[in-house]
Amino acid sequence: MLKSKNIFSKNNFMRIAILIACIIAVAAIALIVIKPARRIATAASVETHIQVSAGDTLSGILSSHNVSGADINLIAAMLKKDCGVSGLRANSDILVLQKKDNDAPVDKIILSSGPWKRVELNCNDGQWSAEVVSIAKDTRLVRRSGKIPQGGTFSQTAIESNIPIGTVYDIINYLAFEIDFERDIQPGQEFAVLYEENLIDGKVIDGGRVIAISFDTHLDRRGKLKMYRFEKAGGKFGYYDEEGKGAIKSLKRTPIDGASISSKFNPNRKHPVLGFTRAHKGVDFRAASGTKIPAAGAGRVVKREYNSGYGNFVRIRHANGFETVYAHMSKFQAGVNVGTTVSQGQIIGYVGSTGLSTGPHLHYEIIKNGAHVNPMTVTFPRIDDLNAAEKTEFLKVRARIDEALTALANNPVLFIPM
Ligand SMILES: [Zn+2]
Repeated sequence: MLKSKNIFSKNNFMRIAILIACIIAVAAIALIVIKPARRIATAASVETHIQVSAGDTLSGILSSHNVSGADINLIAAMLKKDCGVSGLRANSDILVLQKKDNDAPVDKIILSSGPWKRVELNCNDGQWSAEVVSIAKDTRLVRRSGKIPQGGTFSQTAIESNIPIGTVYDIINYLAFEIDFERDIQPGQEFAVLYEENLIDGKVIDGGRVIAISFDTHLDRRGKLKMYRFEKAGGKFGYYDEEGKGAIKSLKRTPIDGASISSKFNPNRKHPVLGFTRAHKGVDFRAASGTKIPAAGAGRVVKREYNSGYGNFVRIRHANGFETVYAHMSKFQAGVNVGTTVSQGQIIGYVGSTGLSTGPHLHYEIIKNGAHVNPMTVTFPRIDDLNAAEKTEFLKVRARIDEALTALANNPVLFIPM
């Protein structure tokens, strides 16, 4: 008690004051010297790269890196509101967490969702901010062509022609309106495709939109198919033939792309379960249990129920007197009920083996004006939706596409930007 009193006596007070002044001066000098050193430390910050896998959550990852619960909530809300990110995607998203050193808190988060989306979150003075970083890309047109070899499939031939797999799926999706990939593919058929290729710094990253498809089927029934992508003023796009008639049909022959037929339409078939002759009013497509079943065309669900023959089935009413039936589903798609309006390609249920069925498959029926028709041969109405002004514009676009096709056929490495 006494000693401490002495320390704060008048004599000592001056000494302490000088000492404090000295400490402040040294600290100030130290700060000036140390500050650039800290910047260097920032540049050489500690980074953790995380490939998001199944079961990972943003909050789980961030809390394991000592980000507070309050900050995690803030970050999640900002990602959703400002960046359109509502969760992590397994096997595609990459998270990079940065901090100034091993003991410092995380002050920068980079979320990469595929090659075209990057979000950066920065923490300055305890305040987080988020921004979507735009990635500069070049897009050019590419023409690829191929010929179906003996025993070859369309998808295999297209992949061997160096068309990216995602683009091959898109092409199959459009051709499925005209082509039955199980029965119509023959050796010698030739195709050419014009599509976009996206590049970063001259390196090809992925394929973009399909611009044109030509497919010489050598089939009397189908002939030479041509499809051109055309976008209307409102941004709605479609595929049209050379004259501007809709190449996309109101219904698909094969709702599940690429599925093979295990049983054809047959008015006099011996039923595999019942044993006696009973008409097979539809087509059976082989598919694994749980495979998604898309609606063959736009329409309204008129039945969604179970019966002992069809098992779980959905019936959709379309325009022009057409109806489609999808039977033996393992389960229905949630939210698809009687009265629901569905778009073409919208998932309505999942392949199964409910009802009178020997194994998982999709039993698909098309009914035209009340009578069952063969889905593989029935003629579907086109979606013709170009008015006179749009048709004039389409013909100009088609001429430019044809020019690009010819130029690239002569010189495949030509750079035609989009
Ligand atoms: Zn069947």
